[in-house]
Amino acid sequence: MENLKPNPNVEVKFTKLFINNEWVDSASGKTFPTYNPATGNKIADLQEADKADVDKAVDAASKAFALGSTYRTMNASDRGKLLYRLADLVERDLNYIANLETLDNGKAFAPHGSIGDTMFSAMVFRYYAGWADKICGKTIPIDGNFFSYTRHEPVGICGQIIPWNYPLAMATWKIAPAVAAGNVVVMKTAEQTPLTALYLASLVKEAGFPPGVVNILSGYGPTAGAAITAHPGINKVAFTGSTEVGQIIMRAAGESNIKRTTLELGGKSPCVIFDDVDVDKVVAEAQEACMTNMGQCCVAGTRTFVHENIYDEFVAKSRELAKTRKIGDPFDPTTKNGPQIDSEQMNKILGLIEKGKEQGAKIEVGGQRWGDKGFYIQPTVFSNVSDNMCIAKEEIFGPVQQILKFKDLDEVLRRANDTTYGLGAAVFTKDINRALMFAHGVQAGTVWINSYNHVSAQSPFGGYKMSGLGRELGEYGLQNYVEVKHVCVSLPQKNS
Ligand code: NAD
Repeated sequence: MENLKPNPNVEVKFTKLFINNEWVDSASGKTFPTYNPATGNKIADLQEADKADVDKAVDAASKAFALGSTYRTMNASDRGKLLYRLADLVERDLNYIANLETLDNGKAFAPHGSIGDTMFSAMVFRYYAGWADKICGKTIPIDGNFFSYTRHEPVGICGQIIPWNYPLAMATWKIAPAVAAGNVVVMKTAEQTPLTALYLASLVKEAGFPPGVVNILSGYGPTAGAAITAHPGINKVAFTGSTEVGQIIMRAAGESNIKRTTLELGGKSPCVIFDDVDVDKVVAEAQEACMTNMGQCCVAGTRTFVHENIYDEFVAKSRELAKTRKIGDPFDPTTKNGPQIDSEQMNKILGLIEKGKEQGAKIEVGGQRWGDKGFYIQPTVFSNVSDNMCIAKEEIFGPVQQILKFKDLDEVLRRANDTTYGLGAAVFTKDINRALMFAHGVQAGTVWINSYNHVSAQSPFGGYKMSGLGRELGEYGLQNYVEVKHVCVSLPQKNS
């Protein structure tokens, strides 16, 4: 850890498209810029992928995936070794990658920011490396003189479209299980944050992956992204981003060739706090649940439901705590909140804050843009929030906490579930019965009891309802990357 040093002048080494283990220009010759959200200044111009480049990447991927290819004939354990090597390389270059992520995304460099994301990326590669030679089918004792077994085969060419809030982590969550299960990948990164995934591509090559196994394209959604979802040669699409685009992707996947589809979308996650907790401690946890990564977190706990007996105290302490949340230069190791990703997101958040005020919620602290350079928003706390307000319904994706009041378990469970989303939820209480009643009744893919945001490589992550489809991470994350094939062999006679 002592080698970790923030460096705002970190060099950008790769700006081209990564296809077939080579760095290539886009077919159109077009480029697009990526900006530093802390300053609004351009960092670099990148090659911009479109349909022709997606076609080229799919061609490379299909050669890599052809029967008899180096990749298809490789031992599963050797695929695992490639992933182990990739994990080691990510760790070797932790300092460089974390700096590049902070430059392009604006998240704090400090351990809870880019450094933490990069370390987590290595953990996820390593976790799935171990799975590569443990993905097994079954033998099945069917009726009759037959030998029946299943193979868990790779789905094939996986299109993967990722967002800007956790650029390296999202690339990792998608590439690692895909490769562990023997698939090939055509990934499109978010146009706001292309840089760390391109660096990861260079490590893919260095680790020794055969050409065409992992292809990484920079470009926009309606062009390169849409070309992936519509491509008849792509067998599966995995997407993380907004629910709105998730619906577009699901439609396109269906209309083209019924791509297997996994979606990790938005949320409006409830964080429920009963009156038997250590208030100071939970005030801090609830605020972190909401404001971590500047609130740009799909699973952010943005509806803080607080029991009426401690509501006023909780609101006052949340307000004082938000005032101390350090905002500023993300390369400063003491910074907690950097900028939002771009002016569009900043303005969307400011618009929702105004809506909250208009609809009668009370601003306890914050509510404004911070500074006049970059895209910063002051940590903001709303009290007197009711369920029908826009700020209690819509995903804000900013450091804006809504504190709502409740009386009892049945009521709060009903209100927690009264949303189209269902990604995360949390309950804070010392009463185990109450905690489990809540955990089992809430419609959410992950429920934390007396904690928040503990996401690990080993456990599944994903959403109920309009928060998504399928699960990522853990053993469950592999299910989306295999086809189950049943093979039935006629025998002269079976024996038990
Ligand atoms: P988005 O959904 O538009 O972008 C996510 C990814 O999808 C990007 O790579 C983008 O290029 C791509 N994309 C966009 N349109 C596409 C299309 N028609 N076909 C294929 N790919 C397409 O998200 P955004 O506009 O960057 O952010 C908007 C809102 O989405 C945010 O305010 C936030 O509420 C939500 N969001 C959620 C997550 C998450 O982790 N669930 C991440 C980012 C944004």
